[in-house]
Amino acid sequence: MKLWQRLALLAVIPLLLQCYLLTQVKAAQEELDRAYVEERRQKDVIILISKAIKSAMDSLSDIVSYKSKHVQLKKERSLHHLGRVRKIREELKAMAGSEEYIQKVQDVLSEIDETVQATIDEDENEVNLRDLSKTLRFTKLGRKAIAIMDYAQFQQEMKYKQMLVVVQAKRKHFDEMALQSAFLCAAVSFGFAAYVIYLTSQQLKVLKKNSENLARGEKLLPPMRGSDELADVDRTFHLMAKSIKQLSERERAILKNSGEWIFAIDSKLRFSFVSDAVEKLLGAKPEELLGQHVTNVLAEATETIEKARTSATDQVFETNLKSNNEVPVEIQISAHWSDEEQTYFCIAHDIGARKDLERMKQSFMAMVSHDLRTPVSANLLTLDLLKSDPAIGNLTDRGRTLVERSIASNNRLMFLINDLLELERLDSGQLTLDMELVTFNDLIDETLPGVEMLAKAKDITIERDDSDRFIYCESARIVQVLVNLIGNAVKFSPSGKRVFLKYAEGGGYCKISVSDEGPGINKDSLSSIFDKFTQVKEASGAHKQGFGLGLEICKKLVELHGGSIAVSSELGVGTTFEISLPLKEV
Ligand code: ADP
Repeated sequence: MKLWQRLALLAVIPLLLQCYLLTQVKAAQEELDRAYVEERRQKDVIILISKAIKSAMDSLSDIVSYKSKHVQLKKERSLHHLGRVRKIREELKAMAGSEEYIQKVQDVLSEIDETVQATIDEDENEVNLRDLSKTLRFTKLGRKAIAIMDYAQFQQEMKYKQMLVVVQAKRKHFDEMALQSAFLCAAVSFGFAAYVIYLTSQQLKVLKKNSENLARGEKLLPPMRGSDELADVDRTFHLMAKSIKQLSERERAILKNSGEWIFAIDSKLRFSFVSDAVEKLLGAKPEELLGQHVTNVLAEATETIEKARTSATDQVFETNLKSNNEVPVEIQISAHWSDEEQTYFCIAHDIGARKDLERMKQSFMAMVSHDLRTPVSANLLTLDLLKSDPAIGNLTDRGRTLVERSIASNNRLMFLINDLLELERLDSGQLTLDMELVTFNDLIDETLPGVEMLAKAKDITIERDDSDRFIYCESARIVQVLVNLIGNAVKFSPSGKRVFLKYAEGGGYCKISVSDEGPGINKDSLSSIFDKFTQVKEASGAHKQGFGLGLEICKKLVELHGGSIAVSSELGVGTTFEISLPLKEV
């Protein structure tokens, strides 16, 4: 039975029972009322019979006591009593039953009526008192009437007494019924309510027990039978528990097989969970770490891990792990504090390989800068002397061409070395800026000599904005950026095109843009254009002239100024590079 059905029955059953019992009580009440009416009638009949005796006797005695001088008055009184006798007869007829004694009363009254009336009619003026036989007849009739009416009254009183007994019995029956109904109604309501409460509380107990079992990770009680709502909740609870179990199994499998080392530390900084990956990192079994203080393996990281507790964000940091074979393992840890569980949840991954690569890169850069730069500079000096020092002797045309080619190659190599060194300085944070306020016009004036020759050679016009707005930067570095951007614009544009240098301000930044009418850059390449060694092959054959390092240097230099660089391009229309630098009010 559904819960709502149970609750509805809880209200409806007592109501229906009450209605039924009320109808029963009402019927008993009506029966009692009828008995009361009957009792009243019986009583009234007794009174009527008494009245009848009195009126009949009065009319008879008036006739018997006729005297000549009061004859008229007596007649009138006689008639008056006779009238009452007749009225009582009518009332008796209407009220009394058809019992034999009532019939006898009616008969004697009728006889008295007829006799008295006949006497009145006969003795128009006087009743002959001396007629003894008449007097005797009246007296006899009177006695007979008294006897009949006494008998009738006795009978009627007996009947009345019986009626009283019936009424009392009915009254008792009514009282008992009312009491029984109230009791029955209360008992049924209470019994049914107790049953519903018992049933529901048993089901709630099962639900409570299941929740506790789920929280403790113990087995749930068997699913409830039935189709009510609580059984539905229990079924859903079982499904939920199943999903949770599956999820936690999956989670355990992920934790077990994850390449990352996942661990939890309690508020006293002791390992409370350690995933299997620790074996690979430390050469120790997870169980060995459980309960150990973090300082035993993460001595340098304890303070930083603790910071996660007070900070709103996760702590991400690099540290060394004390491994069993005494070789420190470089790891990156991300630590998160859970207030609810009073636990730090951490993920660590091995960054040894990445660090090795960085170290290799650094030593390669050192090698490039110091071991290559010096011989290339020496080569360039020698080649220059070969080309231009007459003391060495004149070169043949072929020799001159070869020397010039060699100078160009060495120059390219020198550019590459310089770019690499520049990038290295930027990456390692060695480069510091010498900031100053310089106008846009000044910057462009300084930049143009570096690109004008190339522009002239390709018949490219450079159109520039005229602005004396101040820009806060290290002018030599921004000139370096602009030379690269304008140089690219000229380099990749076909002859006869234009390059535009514009100045604008907005959002607290000054914006310098370099636009060209060149071939444009395809969308796929745009996203990686600022990455090292990126060259867009479709742009033009000019890409062979560089190494794809210029834009990365530009980006890093602009970012060092607290600014940014953006590119937009449309194939066949042109390309725009825009650098934004924070404005500084003068
Ligand atoms: P590079 O020294 O090779 O020019 P950059 O980093 O300056 O190196 O440029 C990277 C690549 O971006 C270039 O090789 C070229 O393919 C593309 N590029 C840069 N500027 C432009 C431009 N204005 N128009 C078309 N392509 C460009």
